[in-house]
Amino acid sequence: MTETTPTKLVCVGRNYAKHAAELGGVVPDEPLIFFKPPSSLIRTGEPIVIPDGVGRVDFEGEIAVVIGKAAKNVRAEDAWDVVQGIAPLNDVTARDLQRIDDQWGRAKGFDTFCPVGEMVHVSEVDLNNLSVITRVNGELRQQGHVQDLVFSIPTLIEYISGIMTLEAGDLIATGTPEGVGPLSVGDTVEVEVGGVGTVSNMVVADN
Ligand code: MG
Repeated sequence: MTETTPTKLVCVGRNYAKHAAELGGVVPDEPLIFFKPPSSLIRTGEPIVIPDGVGRVDFEGEIAVVIGKAAKNVRAEDAWDVVQGIAPLNDVTARDLQRIDDQWGRAKGFDTFCPVGEMVHVSEVDLNNLSVITRVNGELRQQGHVQDLVFSIPTLIEYISGIMTLEAGDLIATGTPEGVGPLSVGDTVEVEVGGVGTVSNMVVADN
């Protein structure tokens, strides 16, 4: 991620078919987007804090796109021109709250619920061969590949920038593959994007 605080974190839901299925959902006809607040951001090594009384809290390993310049109405074929880099991201989710709320601001928005690792510049990564892996306490839990995205990164940038201006430093979390599961206090969760890097965080209780 960049040093400046992003104006927004745009997240994409159900963008891998097998993940949509595991939560009992279907792949949407258009990208399903939601937000996490910039106040949820943490870096590698900082703790994910589980709030009291929220029930199950899940990891969601994702490939994140860092926007490089202001972008509105970008066509898919030009989308990589507005991308600065790629980073690993964990879309930590209070799953029980997500199930009871029609909108996910609460489930997705707690402080510390968005670990993001160091960005690697777009020129230094193989954009057609990005993978994402999640490990909990060293054990493999999720494995996804950019080729399995329902809506590709350029398609997402065209869609989102057709709605809102993306600003330099903004993040797009491109969705999580199957294998999501709960985190417990004391766990260490790592999200690795192949050829980019890893974001690693311990899980702690509130207080
Ligand atoms: Mg997600």
